[in-house]
Amino acid sequence: MMYKCPDCDSTELDVTITTMARLVQDEDGPQTLADEAQHGSDHEWDNNSVMICRECGFQAIAEEFEVDDEEDADDDEAVSHV
Ligand SMILES: [Zn+2]
Repeated sequence: MMYKCPDCDSTELDVTITTMARLVQDEDGPQTLADEAQHGSDHEWDNNSVMICRECGFQAIAEEFEVDDEEDADDDEAVSHV
């Protein structure tokens, strides 16, 4: 399984990620310190994360970019393209 642009077939993609930051709250108000989070370098994304094609600018959730290596994937749920 891999991801490629449904519009131009490019695999040059960017994906939005979620990362953890340490929340520090003092008199200045809340601040986030990404370096001090327990999982500071971890980042997460899934099929609902927004991907952008670097070639043509197509933008959609990662699910829309998903390509199965096997042509006949056992998947009855058709991905609806907008
Ligand atoms: Zn594209």
